Amino acid sequence: MAQEQWTAVDEYLVERYAPEDPVLIAARRAADEAGLPHVAVSPLQGRYLQVLARTVRARRILEIGTLAGYSTIWLGRALPADGRLVTLEHNPAHAEIARANLARAGLDELAEVRVGAALETLPELAGETFDLVFVDADRPNVPEYFRWALELTRPGGLVVVDNVVRRGAVVDEADLDAEIQGVRRFHELLAAEPRAMATAIQTVGAKGHDGFTLALVLSEEE
Ligand code: SAM
Repeated sequence: MAQEQWTAVDEYLVERYAPEDPVLIAARRAADEAGLPHVAVSPLQGRYLQVLARTVRARRILEIGTLAGYSTIWLGRALPADGRLVTLEHNPAHAEIARANLARAGLDELAEVRVGAALETLPELAGETFDLVFVDADRPNVPEYFRWALELTRPGGLVVVDNVVRRGAVVDEADLDAEIQGVRRFHELLAAEPRAMATAIQTVGAKGHDGFTLALVLSEEE
């Protein structure tokens, strides 16, 4: 019953806060037709990312984990016309679908999809600064992605990390799954990090039980 109810509430809220337009529907459909996994953010989560981006007046956004560019479209739409979005994707087939989806959304000038393992493409961004970083790729590397996000985000900027609860498995220290271990190491790392003020919120909805971490990057004086 819980899952049915969470899905019904998601649908109710999506209709009111985050209805998808034809571009977003087409992006999801393209991902489905290519057989990509159903692991994109939900419309409400996409809207949430947009609200965060607008809140920090983001001009430059970094995303780690593109898939078909569904979250990239939500984020790109929060940027001004001269904004910049870099999104990192390991799988060339995913990147190709994402590029087509971004072109359909009219965001191909603003958004750049970089192909490669993120731990190899992130060093190319050293010295650049972003207002918001969204971490949504492979979980075993989340601690390393967070270290990079912290380096690349300006003070006052935000880092959002998705899937940090994993249906509650995160509390099981005996779970040796690499994804769970990666997420647990990330929580330990962030808990001890003086350069960020953070919280983690559990979520339920059409995608089940999970959660995200939201970290505000502090300036040296804070
Ligand atoms: N952010 C997307 C959205 O909400 O629409 C979903 C991203 S999906 C959860 C994770 C993506 O990360 C997949 O497309 C996967 O191929 C990619 N990925 C996995 N390992 C990666 C790595 N080492 N470097 C970069 N991307 C990776």
